[in-house]
Amino acid sequence: MFAPVLVLNANFEPINVCNTRRAIGLVISGKASLVLNGRGEIKTISQSYPRPSIIRLEKMVKRPRPRVKLTKREILRRDDFTCQYCGQRTSTLTIDHVIPRHMGGQHQWENLVTACPLCNHRKGGRTVEQAQMKLLTPPKEPPTTAQYIFARHLRENEEWQPFVDGW
Ligand SMILES: [Zn+2]
Repeated sequence: MFAPVLVLNANFEPINVCNTRRAIGLVISGKASLVLNGRGEIKTISQSYPRPSIIRLEKMVKRPRPRVKLTKREILRRDDFTCQYCGQRTSTLTIDHVIPRHMGGQHQWENLVTACPLCNHRKGGRTVEQAQMKLLTPPKEPPTTAQYIFARHLRENEEWQPFVDGW
């Protein structure tokens, strides 16, 4: 009942992921229709329902394109779990302020990178130039494409891919 279900807007734009229980509720109440099942059936005492994988809202919902939340996990994901100074992938990664906070560096996508503890320590409270280090890639806000936003679900739900492409 808690498997993820992709929710499409009335214009087929992927806008959300909900669980099976919620998706079936939307379908039964007529607020959404089934786009793809392929996951068998759910039986209640009196009826059985197709288990949805993708549903589509009947009415267009207006909402801004979701942006990726600025969290440590999302910074690590953007940087592919790779230290942006030495290129190493270690299990204990930290977040570095490119321009240190005490120099006015902001807590925003463009000033935050993944760093291994060694590089973070080496850089200390200095700028990249002062520390004579180099960034592999200039940090920026990740794309707001559906592909990027729903990426963590796409490996386990390959059937979603055609519905995510191009948004
Ligand atoms: Zn490093």
